Amino acid sequence: MPKKDSSALESVNLMVDHACSFLNMPPGLIEQIKTTNSVYQVSFPISFEDGFHVFTGFCAVHSEHRTPSKGGIRFSETVTLEEIEALASLMTFKCSLVNVPFGGSKAGLKINPKNYLTPQVERITRRFAKELIKRGFINPSQNVPAPDMGTSAREMAWIADVYRSQNPHDVNGLGCVTGKPVSQSGIPGREESTGRGVQYGLREFFRHKQDLKTAGIKGSLGGKKVIIQGLGKVGYHAAKFLQEEDDVKVVGILEHNSAIYSDKGFPIEKVKQYLSENKTLEGFPKSETVKNRETLLEQPCDILIPAAMGGQITSKNASKIKARIIAEAANAPTTFEADAYLKKKGTIIIPDIYLNAGGVVVSYFEWIKNISHISFGRMERRLDEKRGEDIVKAIEKATNVKISKDLKRELIYGADELDLVRSGLDDTMRVTYQQIRERFHSSKDMADLRTSCYALSLEKIHKTYMEMGV
Ligand code: GLU
Repeated sequence: MPKKDSSALESVNLMVDHACSFLNMPPGLIEQIKTTNSVYQVSFPISFEDGFHVFTGFCAVHSEHRTPSKGGIRFSETVTLEEIEALASLMTFKCSLVNVPFGGSKAGLKINPKNYLTPQVERITRRFAKELIKRGFINPSQNVPAPDMGTSAREMAWIADVYRSQNPHDVNGLGCVTGKPVSQSGIPGREESTGRGVQYGLREFFRHKQDLKTAGIKGSLGGKKVIIQGLGKVGYHAAKFLQEEDDVKVVGILEHNSAIYSDKGFPIEKVKQYLSENKTLEGFPKSETVKNRETLLEQPCDILIPAAMGGQITSKNASKIKARIIAEAANAPTTFEADAYLKKKGTIIIPDIYLNAGGVVVSYFEWIKNISHISFGRMERRLDEKRGEDIVKAIEKATNVKISKDLKRELIYGADELDLVRSGLDDTMRVTYQQIRERFHSSKDMADLRTSCYALSLEKIHKTYMEMGV
């Protein structure tokens, strides 16, 4: 194993190079695809009672072969321009892979929001938004941010408000950010979307016997042992849905300050409540505290779900990981070196650019809703219900049998917006995985799912460039 792991940006570029070595791309184009189109760094002061605080933020637009560019805004003390570039480039490949017609971008503000009161976070967010809007880095047709680590629907509502007050004549102004509260022209299901996507992606993986065989795993998703890192938005929803709806056993949970293990499995909703009340997992009833918390990733399980910071699976711990499947809910959780090692060992990695794409897929639905100014299903819902009712009546008349109340309700039900969002996301995750696995199984070169993902994604970007002319 090498002594030093590649950074997130180096890792993405190495993964791209690796996939490109199997593709027939015109010389030079790959450089264009890898290069970040533009970066912006800004510092601004805000005055609080104890004096001025200076904040630094970044924005990277990695690609504009499709517009707008899309990616989250991260609030984190450790954020750097290089990290933002890496995350922006992941957005390019993610959007292309799941057929979301956006380029890739990312923004970040160096701040620990927990150190500030809500009205202070609001002032800081509004000021950062102003700086980005002023230079065209937030705009419904150019670059559309969304929540990421340290941000949520609340920040998106503030940003949308700033954009609309600076651009009152832009009829599509609400499409300048996604992940807004539903009452502020957001879309139901956006908050759960990345975790939902992880669930849908894993379900699809488990539908393919051949892939389970490759992973050395038997049976269905139900009963599988899962260890999850991070109970934030993504980890919480993924773990909750997998536990409550697919019957997986979440045996280990790792947070930034604590880790717990239980062979019996955890009730996620209760753990989440305990964590928000106690700020630690330690002491959760009927659980074992893992002293050296990072070693939880190395405990026996079927599926390991990193759903927190990047760079968690490195050359230092890769050889100790026992999970047969690593389901990358986080962005860039595995370094290039760890990835190469695990690939050789036969561990199946379901890669980030596929598995955590649920967020941007539903962001796409929200953006469409915003620029079309109508909710999904508003025109056809009652018509669908009426049609269902007529069919039920016709069946009853023809068969002379009364259909039960429950079945009737199911047959008549017209989908609401949340049903449509979930259905669109499920379809995207299923179809994309089928394309990835087909690529993986049909070519000897495609030694792993990540290479297949990058290959598929790069080919689509290549085609776009060729057709539009560089
Ligand atoms: N922050 C999310 C991601 O990394 C979502 C981005 C978006 O919806 O634009 O994929």
